Amino acid sequence: MIIAVDGPTASGKGTISKALAAHFGLPHLDTGLLYRAVGRQVALNGGDPDDTVDALAATAFPDERLADQELRTEQTGGFASRVSVHPAVRHALFERQRAFAEQPGGAVLDGRDIGTVIAPEADVKLFVTASVQSRAMRRWLEMQDRELDLELREIEADIAARDKRDIERKDAPLRAAPDAFVLDTSDLGKEAAIAAAIEAVEQAKGR
Ligand code: C5P
Repeated sequence: MIIAVDGPTASGKGTISKALAAHFGLPHLDTGLLYRAVGRQVALNGGDPDDTVDALAATAFPDERLADQELRTEQTGGFASRVSVHPAVRHALFERQRAFAEQPGGAVLDGRDIGTVIAPEADVKLFVTASVQSRAMRRWLEMQDRELDLELREIEADIAARDKRDIERKDAPLRAAPDAFVLDTSDLGKEAAIAAAIEAVEQAKGR
């Protein structure tokens, strides 16, 4: 069974995907991490994330980059969002994601274009979303844990800018597949969101 989970930044799709993978005993790939690794590699190369040639060169990141602590930072997230606009970058990361989706027994993949481009044949497609305000608040609370001092307003603006870039890009824009189950987590706690996702998968499997 292939489960495709898409949605905007900080919607809860990562948490939900991990929980689905554990519940259904499937391997999980966070595809955002691949774009973050490219973004981080561009920075390390001293390149420009908006330049196709620099961004494409950074897709040859070494495997250990995926364990780089800097991948989680807001700055790398911003770079990831910029490199992900280039069709050449998306093309370079395609096979790796396809191979993960095609493994025997299936998999859970989360990202922006899993149900639309990477695995349109997925058995179950979820589109996890939430209001900009509630996503910014979650990010802000996470940062308090890490003692990072960012204003809520700055985070909201950053999330809105990333949404815009993801939605408006020509190649593989962020959008729900027509056959996706849309799960709005704005007013759901973590456990309620996970329970709703499991329920949606069970229902889709039964169809
Ligand atoms: O999900 P995450 O915030 O880690 O992703 C970082 C960036 O990578 C996103 O803002 C998005 O622009 C890009 N991305 C993408 N396609 C994916 C996963 C992530 O374009 N499948």
